Amino acid sequence: MVVMIRSEASQEKIEHLKKWLSDKELIVREFQGQEQCVLGLIGNTNCVDKDMLKSLDIVESVSDMTETFKASNRKMHPEDSVLEMPYGRGAMIGGGNFALIAGPCSVESREQITFVAKEVQAAGANFLRGGAFKPRTSPYDFQGMGSAGLELLLEARAATGLPIVTELMYLHNLDEFLQKEIDVIQIGARNTQNYDLLKELGKCTKVPILLKRGLAGTIKELLMSAEYIMANGNENVILCERGIRTYEQDYARNTLDLSAVPILKSLTHLPVIVDPSHATGRADLVPSMTLAAVAAGADGIIVEVHNDPANALCDGAQSLTPANFATLVKKIEKLREVLA
Ligand code: PEP
Ligand code: MN
Repeated sequence: MVVMIRSEASQEKIEHLKKWLSDKELIVREFQGQEQCVLGLIGNTNCVDKDMLKSLDIVESVSDMTETFKASNRKMHPEDSVLEMPYGRGAMIGGGNFALIAGPCSVESREQITFVAKEVQAAGANFLRGGAFKPRTSPYDFQGMGSAGLELLLEARAATGLPIVTELMYLHNLDEFLQKEIDVIQIGARNTQNYDLLKELGKCTKVPILLKRGLAGTIKELLMSAEYIMANGNENVILCERGIRTYEQDYARNTLDLSAVPILKSLTHLPVIVDPSHATGRADLVPSMTLAAVAAGADGIIVEVHNDPANALCDGAQSLTPANFATLVKKIEKLREVLA
């Protein structure tokens, strides 16, 4: 249930109403916007008399929320969420703050990650990506450098000041991620429905979680995964469309579902970004799909950039060179100006 509070209502009366509602064992979420305060009620709302609520002098309107996703629902939080980075590094994401996240699929060496970090920063990226723990389809493929890779990411961060985005695969690495102050924790497509992991990310941290859409995940399933994190205490979730598995297998690695961007933007207040690299699997398709994502209203992109794509240990075919990335950033900037 969503209760819109009148703009002239005193905070004292709002607090009084909140207490009365939480005494009924409802979870009460308060959103204080520029113009309006909204109270979102989660739980068995049958215990409140809607007409009585409507008759209160501080209440403007009361409506039902039938959707299964609650905390992420835009009805609860009409304005876009703007996420700040917890350790004070770098940019905000959402509400007009565009995230340009770039870097290699995997951290391969000190020289590689530091070089790419400097290149993407010079081109205009405001976050560095790089996998240290890699979920590979084949156990015989490069599995990532693990903790040593995280250390190299920290060095690249120190050299550039760019906040880092890297994937957490297992709960037992979470302490290390927190201790190393990883700025944004990525949850990959293979873990989107690992609910135990998502619950712990809600309970143990407020670090922004970049949550990828599952390989064959629906939009609602993605929102429900975000809900697992938010309902457990971490509101800082970034949703990422990264392509889904369809019958097309010959010419693209996945099928980029760009309609998910405006759909998600209407359903949720969370930032929505697009990964054109995993969505297509092809570097030649990445620029056009990136621009399409920007036009569709994405709050950012996460794109793979490698110093030597032909010899990359992972995902070389979909990686841009630093020069191609720099050209793309100029186009993104121009397009954003046109759309503004
Ligand atoms: C990645 O970002 O390198 C990655 C493995 O992505 P996804 O989980 O979307 O496949
Ligand atoms: Mn990759």
